[in-house]
Order: sequence, then C-alpha cells, then structure tokens
Amino acid sequence: MDWHRHRNRRCFPPLIRPGKIVKLCKVSGHYFRILELPAAAVGPSINDTMPTQTQPSSDAKPDVVTGAVDRHRQTEHTSGDGSVDTEIAILGAGFAGMCMAIGLLKAGRTDFVIYEKADSLGGTWRDNTYPGCACDVPSQLYSYSFAQHAGWSRTFATQPEILAYMKQVAQQHKLDAKIELNAQVTAIQWDQSQRLWRLTFHGGRCVTARVVVSGVGGLHLPKTPALPGLESFAGPAFHSARWRHEVDLTGKTVAVIGTGASAIQFIPEIAGTVGTLHVFQRTPPWVLPRNDRPTSRLARWAFARVPLLQRLWRAVQYWNAESIALGFTLKPKLMGRGQKRSATFLKSIVKDPVLHDKLMPMYTMGCKRVLISDDFYATMTRENVNLITDRIAEVRPHSILTADGIERPVDVIIHATGFQPFHPAADMQISGRDNRTLAADWHDGPEAFYGVAVAGYPNYFMLMGPNSGLGHNSILFMIETQVQYILQCLAWLATDRLDTIEVRQDVQRAFNDSLQKKFDKSVWKSDGSVYRLPCTSWYVHASGKHTALWPSFSATYWLAMRRADSSHYLPRQLPKELPSGKKLPSEAPLTSPAPPARRVA
Ligand SMILES: Cc1cc2nc3c(=O)[nH]c(=O)nc-3n(C[C@H](O)[C@H](O)[C@H](O)COP(=O)(O)OP(=O)(O)OC[C@H]3O[C@@H](n4cnc5c(N)ncnc54)[C@H](O)[C@@H]3O)c2cc1C
Repeated sequence: MDWHRHRNRRCFPPLIRPGKIVKLCKVSGHYFRILELPAAAVGPSINDTMPTQTQPSSDAKPDVVTGAVDRHRQTEHTSGDGSVDTEIAILGAGFAGMCMAIGLLKAGRTDFVIYEKADSLGGTWRDNTYPGCACDVPSQLYSYSFAQHAGWSRTFATQPEILAYMKQVAQQHKLDAKIELNAQVTAIQWDQSQRLWRLTFHGGRCVTARVVVSGVGGLHLPKTPALPGLESFAGPAFHSARWRHEVDLTGKTVAVIGTGASAIQFIPEIAGTVGTLHVFQRTPPWVLPRNDRPTSRLARWAFARVPLLQRLWRAVQYWNAESIALGFTLKPKLMGRGQKRSATFLKSIVKDPVLHDKLMPMYTMGCKRVLISDDFYATMTRENVNLITDRIAEVRPHSILTADGIERPVDVIIHATGFQPFHPAADMQISGRDNRTLAADWHDGPEAFYGVAVAGYPNYFMLMGPNSGLGHNSILFMIETQVQYILQCLAWLATDRLDTIEVRQDVQRAFNDSLQKKFDKSVWKSDGSVYRLPCTSWYVHASGKHTALWPSFSATYWLAMRRADSSHYLPRQLPKELPSGKKLPSEAPLTSPAPPARRVA
C-alpha cells in the first residue's frame, strides 16, 4: 500500500485550519483498517502478545489522583521472541509528548505509553513556577491548533493558566491513563537481533518498544554556572526553574544571576518584596514592550461562539510573528527597526545614562532571544535594585565578590542562567545500531533530519530535536508539524509491514550541509558589521555548528514536513517466520540503495 496515497491533498497551515490533525488522522485511519484485517500478518502487537504488561491488568486500579494506572507492577521484559511491551514509547509528558499521544489517539491507536519522569504532566509549565512566569508568544498561538481555548484571560497567559490548559486537554483526551508517571528513562538501547528498543528506567526496570518517540524537551535541564565558591554559600540558592516558594524573600538581600527570559519576568515581581536586589548581568537583552492586557469579556464571548473568529485572530498572530523571520534569517539589517524601537523604549524609561548604557545591547537583535516586558526597565530604575555588570569573581558564604573587588552581602541567590542546550542524550544514554551512541555521534553537536530522525537509530523519532527550535514563533507549531510527519512514518511502518525505517545517512548529511549554509545570511552569524558586536549565543555549539534553531520561516518547515518522503529512509523488512535456530540477518549497511521515491504528484 502506498502510504502517500492517503496524504491530505488540501494542506493548509494548521494555524489556519486547526482541523489538520484530524485530517491526517484519516491517513492513519486507512492504516488501521489494514491492521485490523489479518492480525497475524502484521506481526505481534501489544494486544496479542503482552496484554498484562502495557495494558492495564484487570486488577490494576487507576491512581486516585492522576487516574494513571500503576504499571510499576510490570515485570521486566525478558522475552526473546521479538514481542514488545508497548508498540510506541513516548518519552515525556510536556506539550510535545502530549501532542504525539493525542495524534496517535486520533489515529485510533492506543498501543503506546507515555513515560514521564516527574510526578505530573506539564513539562516546562510544571517545572517553572517562578513569580510572573508566562509565555512570550500570544496564548492564542501558544496553544494547540486542535484544542483552541476561548477563555485565555490575558494576551500572554501565566504559568498556572497554561498548566491548567494542558491538564484540561489531557483530561479531554483521557491521557492520564496512558501516562506512566515517575518513570525516568535513563537509557534506551536498540536491540539489533530483536529489532526493538530496550528502555531502562531509574531503578533498573526495563521495557521494550518497537518505536520510541522522544519528547524530552529542549529546555528542561537547568544550567547553574560554575562560580568559584558557590558551594560555600550558606544561604538558600536555587534556579528559577526550581523556584523554592518556601524561601521568604521579604526584606532580604537577593542576588539574581542573569537577565534572560525568566529573569525579566520574575525581577519585576520580587523587586517590591525584597530589601535589596543585586542583578548580575553578563549581556543585556533586547527588550520590547509586551503590551500584555486582559482579554475582554466580549472577545472571550465572541471566540467561544464564533470559533472562526478565533482562528482568524490566531492566523493574524501567526503571520505577524512569522514576518520577524525575514530579519532573523535573510536580512539582519531589517532588525534595525526593532532595535530602534527597543532603544527608544529603554530611553523613555531609563534616564540615568550609566544605567542606560549598561542596559543597551551591542549585538544585532535576534542573535539572542528578543525579550518582551512592560516593567523590566522600570524595575531596574528602582532605588533598591542594582545592576552589576562586573564579572563574579567568587561566591563567599554570605556575599558575592566581583572582579572590581567589591564584596556585596547576599542572603539568597537565584540563578536565572537558563538551561543546558538541547541534547536528548544529556541525561539519558541512547545507543543505536552497531553499538553507536548518540553522545558519541553528536560529539561535534547534535544533528538530525529535520529534527525528527537520526541515521543509525531505527524507529527512533524526536520532537523538538536539533535545529527545530524557533526564536520568532510558537514552538507548538513546530511540534504539531513534527507529530503529523511522524504519524505518516508510523503509518508507513505498519502498512508496508516493515520492521524498521531509518533515515539515510547521505540524506541526513546533505540536509545538514545545506542547513548550516542557511545560517550564513542570518542574524545568528552576524559578525558585528550590522551592529557593534558579533553574535555569540547558546544556539551555537562549541564546534561552531548551529544546532538549536530552524534557520527559516516556520511555514517553510511545515511545507517541507507536510509529506514524509519514503526515499529519505531505509526501510527494512525481515521474513516473519524464521526457521527455528536461524539467526536474523544483520542490518543492511547504511549505504544500502534507497527505495524509489513514492511521492504522489
Ligand atoms: C520559562 C519558559 C517559558 C517559555 N515560553 C515559551 C513561549 O512563550 N513560547 C514558546 O514557543 N516556547 C516557550 N518556551 C519553550 C518551551 O519549553 C516549549 O514551548 C515547550 O513547552 C516544550 O515542550 P516539550 O514537551 O518539548 O518539552 P518540556 O515541556 O520540557 O517537556 C519534556 C518532558 O519530558 C520529561 N522528561 C525529560 N527527560 C525525561 C526522561 N529521561 N524520562 C522521562 N521523562 C523525561 C520532562 O520531565 C518533561 O515533562 C518556554 C520555556 C521556558 C523554560
């Protein structure tokens, strides 16, 4: 069966047609009719091989709080017959993992489990509870296209509202029963002979899966700077993504290290409570007014009654955000207008020339994330707030010493120093074909095929993998695009009764070579000729490779990803019935000829 035959012929960006997931589910709808025919012909499935391991056993009771079924009673899977505990293992229950699960459910598939290391879903929006935490993309856009919410209270919803939205979506799709909480995957290993993935969890338990979809997030491992003497600090010290609400900041002298996206949200919130606030800044961000306001009751009423209105408004916001990519990716000089706006904003609020100069960025706007805030600059002018730009030389038990020799007493340190750059193998060992590891393969920086597949790792897909982040638009757009793509790959696996698909090494190489070239004209490679300083940011790996961002419009990504192309992959199929005692043939080499492309014109 030709998997492309069922593609959606009326493809529109999901932002304009929120029903796209449903349409693509029709693709998989075909696939499922086929699966239902001869069960034996499609190989072992979760339902007929391991009913007590991934499906809730009859005596498994849903957790009273989460509704999740206790799967910890699963026994370690040791079978050598190629059967699996679950067909699809989704790692992580953030926006990405949830979207994948909902996509599968809409396709009629229930043969998956989401493994989540924390004790609840939500990812970013569960972990970041600092005061003032909110999205910086309008909520109409920073929400699933297929689960539009008419009731956003503000232009930029705060963390509790976003988390509540995620929980509501999960409830609507009955995801709780598909999520295994407190299940931290520490290693995944490709079993070449059985053609399945072996997942090892913290504590040693092991399960098997035919396919792994990793949604472990790009910004979930907080980064704390290696400051000399930090461990000697006697007071509370914590990262903004692990906010310690029990620490009372009232009247205290607090040091905030960093002025990035999180810092500029919580600094205005705590400045009025603390005694003194020392803000340690390495590089000033470009800041634009946020213009956050409550959504009027009339707008909410209209969105609820006329969903088309909301979709149109969302589309306006999408294309508005998308237009910024022109300056980011093709014409950095266009960022001059934004820089002027930001500079005027700064000048209108900060009158002190010394403070003004400290807050004025020297690099081209867009090189680092452009921040939005209505009250950050005003907060920095407060009497009790000091902006310190000298390097921290040492942290002492009750103070911080800067390179200029000034020692400032400090009661509490808050690290607003961001996250470890994207690397799914950062806290998980990922071993693919021929004992390769992702850590070694990505020694010179992560790279993949459109951020979703990696050569040498069969049946392994990523959400928000390398080079699929955005600095100008909603990440959820990219996540939904990737989910649609992976659903097509999974449909192909099933309909052609393949054991594995794996992106071709040469295709991945060519893609990455051309991708890196696209950065040449971008703001992320600006050398100081557009503005004063060359661009340096965490988006770039130490090797010089750009590994985080998609260097173009998100619409271009959607165009490239809307239809998966079989010629990009190596499909492998083994005879189902092997004479007993005979070994499975070894994997085809990476250079095996590509199958003919099966794109439908
Ligand atoms: C403060 C903040 C504000 C942001 N605001 C915006 C915004 O306005 N717009 C925007 O587009 N993006 C924003 N982002 C980026 C944001 O991370 C993404 O938009 C989105 O939430 C990513 O979802 P995710 O599911 O890919 O990752 P996450 O939300 O990080 O979820 C990953 C999940 O995987 C779990 N996990 C990780 N490792 C394992 C493991 N080994 N085993 C099992 N489970 C594991 C984690 O516990 C987590 O629940 C923001 C990020 C932060 C930190």
